Amino acid sequence: MAFLELTDIHKTYENAPLLCGATFGVERGEIACLLGPSGSGKTTLLRIIAGLETPERGRVFIEGTDITALPAHRRGVVLMFQDYALFPHRTVAQNIAFGLRMRRHSRAAIAARVAEMLALTGLEDFADRDVNVLSGGERQRVALARSLAPQPRLLLLDEPLGALDRNLRERLLEDLPVILRRVGVTAITVTHDQEEAFALSDRVILLNEGRVVQTGRPEALYDRPHNTWVARFLGLENLFPARRSDWQSDLRIEVPFGVLTINDQADAPPPGAEGHLLIHPWGIHLEAGTVNAFNAQVTQRTFHGSYFRLTLAVDGGTLRLDIAPGQTPPAPGETLHGWIDPAALRWLPA
Ligand code: ADP
Ligand code: MG
Repeated sequence: MAFLELTDIHKTYENAPLLCGATFGVERGEIACLLGPSGSGKTTLLRIIAGLETPERGRVFIEGTDITALPAHRRGVVLMFQDYALFPHRTVAQNIAFGLRMRRHSRAAIAARVAEMLALTGLEDFADRDVNVLSGGERQRVALARSLAPQPRLLLLDEPLGALDRNLRERLLEDLPVILRRVGVTAITVTHDQEEAFALSDRVILLNEGRVVQTGRPEALYDRPHNTWVARFLGLENLFPARRSDWQSDLRIEVPFGVLTINDQADAPPPGAEGHLLIHPWGIHLEAGTVNAFNAQVTQRTFHGSYFRLTLAVDGGTLRLDIAPGQTPPAPGETLHGWIDPAALRWLPA
């Protein structure tokens, strides 16, 4: 059994089912990320794990013990709220000390632990500041220090970067997992943003309509989404209705703009099967080729600083890909020949 296990969690609000059979596990020391669209029940799942909500059905286990009915304060679980919920008009140090005072640690032990948390989060010079005068990024670090101070066995972070502006978010995307790994705490973060989930976590747990639809390492999830919903949610747009050819020996897939060869024996659908084909943008080459050749017309080109994004019209759909600005990008209206690397094709069942 994993360190944390949730089995068959159900929760309904006002007759609308929100969670309908959510099941997943998290290993000790792992940083997992619950990813899902807004309203998919992520915050509710964290609140169930923390003991702030009770599921109508299903169980929560930590280290093999059923804690479904255990009061929140006895779980050893800390939830860092989306808005941080710092205590206003108190200093940074007082905020960090709060959980330790509640647990009646000695004054000396509290001072030592607060100093340790200030150092961990780079807040040494902020101990006596009023939290109301801090920037968003500083408030986030105080919230993190306060959450880690009581040494939770499980830390839950609800959209930890959601309240921050873009530049700061990018930096904290790198800092946050470093801090969590240094402490070695088991953590679950929540986000609706796939890039954030990829950058923060060892493993992504993808949620849709109250259920876990796929879990895996970020690279694995992105490489092999299980279905078109997962692909689209992860930002993979090159999807075409597809049909496998009728011959067993022949790994060819009919799509609206041609017949493509895949080299993916393991994942191949049965002959005659219908589904979708995902084309990873990294496998699209804009030069004449002998395998999986296609013709296209450039319909759009947008400059994004470190890359150009191209949209190509092909029969029955569009292909999107990014190219580095060092190359001369084709312009809208141009027609071109390309080819698609068979290794970049993924069959998605209907
Ligand atoms: P997420 O965090 O993925 O955006 P939430 O867990 O906040 O999703 O829940 C999604 C929806 O469930 C909310 O938009 C709301 O409609 C409903 N909901 C959540 N908590 C409550 C509650 N305590 N009372 C009533 N409805 C709730
Ligand atoms: Mg939420």
